[in-house]
Order: sequence, then structure tokens, then C-alpha cells
Amino acid sequence: NPRKYTGIVEDCCCDYETVDSLNGEVLHPLLQELVTTPFFRYFKVKLWCDCPFWPDDGMCRLRDCSVCECPENEFPEPFKKPFQHGLSSDDLICQEGKPQAAVDRTIDSKAFRGWAEIDNPWTNDDETDNAEMTYVNLQLNPERYTGYVGPSARRIWDAVYTENCPKYPSGEFCQEKRVLYKLISGLHSSISIHIAADYLLDESTNLWGQNLELMYDRVLRFPDRVRNLYFTYLFVLRAVTKAADYLEQAEYDTGNPTEDLKTQSLMRQLVYHPKLRAACPLPFDEAKLWQGGSGPELKQQIQKQFKNISALMDCVGCEKCRLWGKLQVLGLGTALKILFSVDGKDKLEQHLQLQHNEVIALTNLLNRLSESVRFVHEMGPAAERVMEVS
Ligand code: FAD
Repeated sequence: NPRKYTGIVEDCCCDYETVDSLNGEVLHPLLQELVTTPFFRYFKVKLWCDCPFWPDDGMCRLRDCSVCECPENEFPEPFKKPFQHGLSSDDLICQEGKPQAAVDRTIDSKAFRGWAEIDNPWTNDDETDNAEMTYVNLQLNPERYTGYVGPSARRIWDAVYTENCPKYPSGEFCQEKRVLYKLISGLHSSISIHIAADYLLDESTNLWGQNLELMYDRVLRFPDRVRNLYFTYLFVLRAVTKAADYLEQAEYDTGNPTEDLKTQSLMRQLVYHPKLRAACPLPFDEAKLWQGGSGPELKQQIQKQFKNISALMDCVGCEKCRLWGKLQVLGLGTALKILFSVDGKDKLEQHLQLQHNEVIALTNLLNRLSESVRFVHEMGPAAERVMEVS
């Protein structure tokens, strides 16, 4: 029998059934429309691979083919542990040579006004650093299977987990570290689900479709990974609802008044939706964190770890994966900033300052997570049945 997720999502305030119905009926349709608006479909990003952990070994010199490989002897000492084996010649295949891995840069510039230019303390990228930045139309570059596999991809995930958010040993009670691990794991689940939902089934005929086996193998057969996905969704949803007044009042100016009014209206419907307010008014309770004596130091430590994760996105050796990796980590960093880095709990909108790129990342991340939750809810039971039969 397919697994059924019931009860309250761990460390959150809403149950699985509520999340599924709220997502399916209200949030997912609104988000799908919101991310197609001109404001939300262009993301400013530095796609040039500038990996801070890989010394300048000449491997990143081709802008459109930046695999970021590095020989093991040049790999920083702390990252070596998980990689006992050397790289095989297969790993040196230019991932970006695959058409599905390259970013389509059609219509790559757009002007925006009226947003703060303040560094995010949780992330590595600085939007004000305009050199090498480009605008990318996210609608032309869906997150899907790209063929980026093998040690290059594995090395990033291993570095993220081993160095930055080690799986909390059972029994250790540090809710804050657990939150960081679960956010990363939830994001990882979501990426895997998007790969499975939009997979190149037959290269010779260019046939794309769902790969339920892959969805099962990478996510569904690990209930923790599914739970972490729901957790991450609720965490980001909480950030969006906490910043509701700010997001509702923000200017979504792209020079197209009709479209911009629509964007504002969709955002208002999303953040103030009566069903959301009634069914899940507090998706995650951030006030419970950082209460212990070591709260401030712990926050600094976790902030540093998250910044490292953000910096690791420059080492992702597939351009489209790097685009979505950077966007989603910036989205998580923005959620962390909204929930943990703004003083004056009662008057958040007076203290909060967001870059337009942060809002774009936050909203697109919420949409990606919302899509993944929908896939798991709708396709999960079928995928589990298929796997049980085979
Ligand atoms: P991986 O997904 O690489 O997982 C590595 C290990 O991490 C697993 O063996 C397991 O031990 C652990 N793990 C896996 N999932 C979880 C989880 N949810 N929680 C906790 N631990 C987990 N490929 C694409 O085709 N398209 C993309 O858009 C894309 N984007 C990427 C973005 C980033 C930032 C990175 C680092 C990689 C991306 N990839 C993408 C590659 C993809 O994520 C996989 O690495 C690749 O498909 C190989 O998968 P795998 O089966 O080896 O396991």
C-alpha cells in the first residue's frame, strides 16, 4: 500500500492533508500564474562559474562549458573525505555540451526600479555586483533533467551535507541545526522530483515525460525526504506570509502597467488568501528558535554554513542546474533573512528590505516547492504502486 502521510508536519504547525488541499486548491494555481508575470520571470544571475573552493586550475575557462572539474590533488582538504576515488574520464565530459543543460538567454535584459540594494547576510551572491550578471527568462529554462550526473554532481551534494549541515545524530536536540539540514534535504527532494517529472525518456526521439521509477528511487522510498520537502515548503510559505504586508505594498514595476497591476493583485491574493489564513495561519513558528543561551553564536554559525552552501552553487558544473541552484538557495536565504534577521517583530515591514532578486527567488522557490508537493501528492501513490508491482 502506498505510504500515507498524516498528522502535523514535523516542527511545523499544519498537517499533511491541509497542506495538500491548500496547495492544490489555492496556492499552486496562484503561484503558477504569478511566476509567468514579467516581474517574476526574469532572474538576475551570475552564471559564470567562479567556484571559490576549486583553485583557479583553468578548468572553468569556457563560459558555456564550465564543468568546474578539478583534479583531486587540488581539491580543498576538508572536501576530500567523501571522494576516495579519482575522477574517471567520463566525469570530464562537458555536461554543458548537452542541449538540455544549457541556458536559453533569449530576452535577457529588463529594467527594474524601486528595490533595495542591501546584501543578504545569509547568502554569498551580491546582486549589486553587476559585472558578469545577466537576466534569464526562467520560463524558457524550466528546471528539469539535464544529464548532470556522476562525481561532479555528487561532489556538490556531498560537500553540502558533509561539511555544512551534517545529518543530526538521533538524540541530539538542536532544533536550529535540524532546520538547516531539513531545508537542504527538502530542496534536494524538490530538485529530484523536478528531474523525475520532466525527464528525457528517449534521447533519439527527444521524448520527454515522467520517470516515476526515478521519483520513487530518489525520494518516495525515503519518507524522511518527503517529510523534509513538506517542511521546506511550509518554512518558505511562513516567510512569505510573514512578509505579506511588504510583498503586497512592493512595486512590481516592469514598465507594463497592465501586467504589473496583475502581478500585484496575484501577490495580494496569495499572501492574504482567506483559506490560507484560516487553514494554516502559522505554517512554521520561527519564534521557537534561538531561545537557548548560545542563540546568537549558533545563529552566526548556521549563517556561515548557509553562506558556504550558497558559495558552493558556483561549483555546480551544469549551467541550468547552477541557475536553479542559485535561485533556490537565494530563495531559502531570503526566507531565512525574513524569519531570522529582521529585528522588530511587530513592525516587520518597517525593518525589512528586500532586493527585487530576492523576492523573485523567494516566489519562484515557493512555486517549485509547491509543484513538488503536488507531484508527490498526485503521482506518489501511482509511483509506489508501479514500483511494488515491478
Ligand atoms: P543525488 O541526487 O546526487 O544525491 C546524492 C546523495 O545525497 C544520495 O546518494 C543520498 O545519499 C543523498 N540524498 C539524495 N536526496 C536526498 C534528500 N532529499 N535528502 C537527504 N539526502 C539526500 N540534475 C538535473 O538533471 N537537473 C537539474 O536541474 C539539477 N540541478 C541540480 C542543482 C544542484 C545544486 C546540484 C548540486 C545538482 C543538480 N542536479 C541536477 C544533479 C542532481 O541533483 C543529481 O545530483 C544527479 O541527478 C545524480 O543523482 P544521484 O542519484 O547520484 O543522487
